[in-house]
Amino acid sequence: MKHTKVKDLLNSTTTLQEVNAKGWVRTFRNNQFIALNDGSTINNIQCVVDFENTPEETLKRITTGAAVSVFGTLVESKGAGQKYEIQVTKLEILGDSDPEKFPMQPKKHTLEFLRTNAHLRVRTNAFGAIMRVRSVLSYAVHKYFQDKGFVYVNTPIITGADAEGAGEMFQVTSLPLDNLPKNEEGNIDFKKDFFGKHTNLTVSGQLEGETFAMALGQIYTFGPTFRAENSNTSRHLAEFWMIEPEVAFNDLDDNMDLAEDFIQYVIKYALDNCKDDLKFLEGRLLEEEKSKPQAERSEMALLEKLNFVLENNFKRVSYTEAIDILRDSTPNKKKKFQYIIEEWGADLQSEHERYLVEKHFKCPVILYDYPANIKAFYMRLNDNTEAGRETVRAMDILFPGIGEIVGGSEREERYDVLVEKMKALEIDEEELYWYLDTRRFGSATHAGFGLGFERLVLFVTGMTNIRDVIPFPRTPGSAEF
Ligand code: ATP
Ligand code: MN
Repeated sequence: MKHTKVKDLLNSTTTLQEVNAKGWVRTFRNNQFIALNDGSTINNIQCVVDFENTPEETLKRITTGAAVSVFGTLVESKGAGQKYEIQVTKLEILGDSDPEKFPMQPKKHTLEFLRTNAHLRVRTNAFGAIMRVRSVLSYAVHKYFQDKGFVYVNTPIITGADAEGAGEMFQVTSLPLDNLPKNEEGNIDFKKDFFGKHTNLTVSGQLEGETFAMALGQIYTFGPTFRAENSNTSRHLAEFWMIEPEVAFNDLDDNMDLAEDFIQYVIKYALDNCKDDLKFLEGRLLEEEKSKPQAERSEMALLEKLNFVLENNFKRVSYTEAIDILRDSTPNKKKKFQYIIEEWGADLQSEHERYLVEKHFKCPVILYDYPANIKAFYMRLNDNTEAGRETVRAMDILFPGIGEIVGGSEREERYDVLVEKMKALEIDEEELYWYLDTRRFGSATHAGFGLGFERLVLFVTGMTNIRDVIPFPRTPGSAEF
């Protein structure tokens, strides 16, 4: 007999004579009631054990964390909280779980404690919910682009480019670190390395993605990305997943439209398909905030916040307007910002981004047209910008509680302008000859962006630390599991 998923049993429209469920015991009350979870849903099914006719030995082994198989009938529940329950006729212990030793006790654990048990935390309600939402969101990402005819491209994870323009890189080598081959100049001889050259883990698939967009029209990547940035924040991982669409003939406005539509679509998809999990996470958040002072609590509950993003256009604001707002802001005047905004040209810190989103506009914001010298080399220089105040067609999307969720731009499609920029920044033209070829042969306007998948999962689940929305986080000093 094949077992039935708990989700399907709970959604049954009739009582059922013979059912079998398999899962893990969450709790066992009064020697009678098992709350059984199999990961198919946040909800447990109540299994009522006929304790008078069950050997004492077996009853003792029904402990939190144990894997069990129950046989019985699906009957209408007499207890509150569930429509159906299983009246157990036979129970098998599949795998014992010593209650003295199992770390996931049925009580509230801190997120810090759970992080040190990332292999078991997924057995808790919260992490089960987060990981199911993450899975549905990644499906929604593919669905959105596939439905629109985008081609999914797998850009390389090991890259031969030393500068992809997006952050510190991890090096990849098979050379013996205790006996490195040297060349005549006394430097490490990467010619002897696995690939015959120096290689890194990718920080972005964009440059390769652009070459594909210039042939396939609309493409997207969705893959792992690595950054060796030593920023120990609640928004940065050393290994994260990034979604990077790139579209031929799109300009910056099209790019903003695409990003906004895409984000709204995937959030709506999660709202429609993860109702129980999101409701649970909303409740968890409300509970957590009870202990905080009123001023620190969120203005909106989770579902309300997600709906708000769907129902309101993102506010589009140029960098120059943003600087004016920040310069006149109370925290700037009262020197409450760590970095005071004095002049046009200043790089915005997360405190500034959060002020704009959370205090000033109170909605998602798209900042665009940034100063050229604080942005990457491949971004398109705006026509008609003042000398000394050159701007590029860049855009960042800022979200409440998250900060930057998307970074993108229209790309510099003019060969000469691009080469000049690379020269000024001492970026090796020979190394990136293949990238320049896109501008040499059939160049055209195109644009794209990168969205950090974990930042999206953070927003949708209402979690606050990025380590809690990826199965096994990699951060400075930590690569357990
Ligand atoms: P930040 O300023 O937050 O470090 P960034 O400017 O380095 O971001 P981009 O290089 O534009 O970011 O990368 C595109 C997107 O990838 C970002 O908008 C963000 O959502 C995500 N991202 C960037 N770095 C990380 C990281 N270390 N961990 C998780 N997500 C990241
Ligand atoms: Mn960064």
